[in-house]
Amino acid sequence: MSLSSPGSPSAVTPNFELQPESVATLLIAGQWRAAPDGAVLPMHAPADGRLIGHISRGGAAEVDAAVQAAQAALASPAWAGLSAAQRGRLLMALSRRVQEEAERLAWLEAHDTGKPIGLARADMQVLARYLEFYGGAADKVHGEVIPFEPGYTVTLTREPLGVTAHIIPWNYPAQMFGRSIAPALAMGNAVVLKPSEDACLSCLAVTQLALEVGFPAGSINVVTGLGAEAGAALSAHPGIGLVTFTGSSEVGALVQGAAARHHVPVTLELGGKSPQIVFADADLERAADAVVRGIVQNAGQTCSAGSRVLVEKSAFPAFADMLARRFATLRMGVPETNADLGPLINAPQRQRVQRFVAQARADGVPVIAETPLAADLPAQGLFVSPIAFGPVPPQHALAREEVFGPVLCAMPFEDEADAVRLANDTDFGLVAAVWTRDGDRQARLARRVQSGQFFINCYGAGGGVELPFGGTKRSGHGREKGMAALDEMSVTKTVVHFHGQ
Ligand code: NAP
Ligand code: MG
Repeated sequence: MSLSSPGSPSAVTPNFELQPESVATLLIAGQWRAAPDGAVLPMHAPADGRLIGHISRGGAAEVDAAVQAAQAALASPAWAGLSAAQRGRLLMALSRRVQEEAERLAWLEAHDTGKPIGLARADMQVLARYLEFYGGAADKVHGEVIPFEPGYTVTLTREPLGVTAHIIPWNYPAQMFGRSIAPALAMGNAVVLKPSEDACLSCLAVTQLALEVGFPAGSINVVTGLGAEAGAALSAHPGIGLVTFTGSSEVGALVQGAAARHHVPVTLELGGKSPQIVFADADLERAADAVVRGIVQNAGQTCSAGSRVLVEKSAFPAFADMLARRFATLRMGVPETNADLGPLINAPQRQRVQRFVAQARADGVPVIAETPLAADLPAQGLFVSPIAFGPVPPQHALAREEVFGPVLCAMPFEDEADAVRLANDTDFGLVAAVWTRDGDRQARLARRVQSGQFFINCYGAGGGVELPFGGTKRSGHGREKGMAALDEMSVTKTVVHFHGQ
């Protein structure tokens, strides 16, 4: 699986068919390098356990070199001398290259993460869209003029933060690359990316394309490696101006603590336990379609998965039947089969999901539906059966913790007040949805349910790239996507000019 493309001008291109000792996946100052000690990490395909490549195991020294390379780019005419329009054009050019290479990138992503090829293809379109959106936005961030005392002119401008650090997870590597890095580059920062050791091949391939379209040396740096090594070193580095992190609450707290030592601002996206609230007057069939889609997409490994469905009591039995009918037709398979679900990312993640399911069974939580594993799945594949439990007691772990697997938790509610109480009875607050035909109720719930995004008679699992996205409560803070990400990736400077009347 080579990442080189025809006519590639770069001297060294990561190639995952090379022997481990020659794997070079650290991009520092425009050069692909191996770890100095030759340390590598194996990459396995979750669908069948195949070894599909190696990445370099970068550590604190490589992170330091990457941050210095980014600082140098911020001082060089090649990057700092570009106009906003020129930065935008580079992002647009990368968007076009991603579209041209979408099929190759999608297969890389599908094998690396185990996801169905159709989902991986859609991910590449989203990546291209992020690059296009922020490419177009780069020269449209205008300042403000503030009316102040006579004789003064006060202007506000948005300035880059400097070196931005991006720690992204394995569930949507290519999408996360676009979501995190494109707005940072649009605003003129220089970036250091620490992708996940579990899946990052698409990120490396897109980074190579970025070099080819002309992103100058040091504007994008990548340090592959372990979270506890490269990730920890990056979040603790005094030379960065921001760290954005997507992943678990526990590691999010570590990252924030490390960054706090140097007063570095942090954007955290920490997942959720997002409720879909279904009233009896809703189009129940449409709601059931969206609820099942929202929990099986990417085998439930989605921060915005709608993992809690709250159903008005009178409709609960009918809705449970609808869920059961849909679960009965779900297909699982390797990426090539383009099934509804692929495997989970790694063995610990599968054990974690299996533990939740076993505990719920042991506690006697009723099962609404379960899709048995097909007999023809690869023995080494990390598949789990999609399952819906309900009614789940509100205090049960299944109703409160993020499982990050295809495990749906259904709960009945009495009335609107009960629905709002249950929806907010969680530490998380990322996304929520209401399904009802009552317009006043839609508006009330949109105000009263605590979440960063709220959907009415639809569910977008994160929504389009234009839509600001992020958490409340323990789902994190800060906003990505949309124009909001440009604010996140920059800081206001207030310039007060006294010139007299
Ligand atoms: P995780 O450990 O939080 O990993 C997320 C990212 O942080 C990865 O790039 C990881 O690198 C890095 N990382 C790990 N330890 C670090 C540290 N000490 N300092 C800095 N960075 C560090 O998440 P996980 O173990 O993969 O998954 C566990 C749970 O997290 C899941 O079950 C799910 O609940 C949640 N999760 C949420 C999202 C989301 O989209 N919100 C995504 C993934 C996971 P390495 O992977 O290379 O170690
Ligand atoms: Mg992998």
